[in-house]
Amino acid sequence: MTTKLVTFEDGKGQRAGVLLDDGRVLDLAAVAIGTLAGQTGDMLSLIEAGPAVLAAARALAAEPPPAAVLDAGAVRLLAPIPRPRRNVFCVGRNYMDHVAEGDRTRGIEKSELPKYPQFFTKAPECVIGPEETIPDHAGVTQWLDYEVELAAVIGREGRDIPADRALDHVFGWTVANDVTGRDLQRRHGQWFKGKSLDRSCPLGPWIVPAAELDALDTGIRCRVNGEIRQESRTSKMIFDVREIIRQLSMGFTLRPGDVVITGTPEGVGYAMQPPQTLKDGDAVECEIDGIGTLRNAVRAGL
Ligand code: MN
Repeated sequence: MTTKLVTFEDGKGQRAGVLLDDGRVLDLAAVAIGTLAGQTGDMLSLIEAGPAVLAAARALAAEPPPAAVLDAGAVRLLAPIPRPRRNVFCVGRNYMDHVAEGDRTRGIEKSELPKYPQFFTKAPECVIGPEETIPDHAGVTQWLDYEVELAAVIGREGRDIPADRALDHVFGWTVANDVTGRDLQRRHGQWFKGKSLDRSCPLGPWIVPAAELDALDTGIRCRVNGEIRQESRTSKMIFDVREIIRQLSMGFTLRPGDVVITGTPEGVGYAMQPPQTLKDGDAVECEIDGIGTLRNAVRAGL
């Protein structure tokens, strides 16, 4: 079993914890880890506390002190990083088959590989957690769409990070849904407007520590109302996580708690025949093998 690092809310505030196999949550703020008590109050503190504290948290989860364990019904899981300190860093057009399906909607039959990662961002306020609702934004966009993506959470500050050191800077992995207003994405040239609608970045349901998963080659898929729409492997990325971190960090300092989402595979709604949009009542499940499933429903309004 992998370690599932969560941010939860229990009526007494948001804290970091470990989701146990039986659904209960180990409250890391309730346990004193060595001399580092108080450093694990939220996920960012846990990330910044370093590998020794993470190892201690994992050991405690194996034999949790009863007084620090909360029942499943007493907690609600939030996004593992509920409000990133900076924009969520994103890569567009990073799976060849997704590049091709996008080009086909523009009448381009022969796609060219991007020569460099296509970076853009989503505002940090877009982030929502598992089971939270995605607004349909009817009246603002006619083309709301899903994109399952592997998310890397940065653990160690760095600039000009070489590819062969890049994974040393990753704290862990989680799942993201890069919800997009396609018409806005195209209309405004720059993608920010179509990518930063309120509540358009579901993230979670937890973080798996970097060393516990080979995220460079794992299954990734998205279901809408139970129907598989996207099904691929992260090994099909054009620029893998190491190369994304190398290029993103060129002359730009990545910091602990930064979230980098790495592009979506083929099967998005707007490229289907006929095209499909997300609408009120849809259930979207984004899943990555070795991490878990991020579920969100689409609802009219907010
Ligand atoms: Mn995307």
